[in-house]
Amino acid sequence: MPAYIVNKNAQTNGDHEVHKNGCAYMPDIANRLPLGVHASCGPAVTKAKRTFPSADGCAYCCPTCNKS
Ligand SMILES: [Zn+2]
Repeated sequence: MPAYIVNKNAQTNGDHEVHKNGCAYMPDIANRLPLGVHASCGPAVTKAKRTFPSADGCAYCCPTCNKS
């Protein structure tokens, strides 16, 4: 199962993007908050929302979790 991270910095639209480890669009290491290993992006985004309520899946590596 892949590891996921969430960007500590919000995008211009206010979302904190969740990425699968290895995504080309992952933020700088200093801006990554580890979410642990998950079977899919769903539980990873749920965990990210505990820290960032506006968390959302990356359109490239987590398209099924991208709402915006
Ligand atoms: Zn991504």
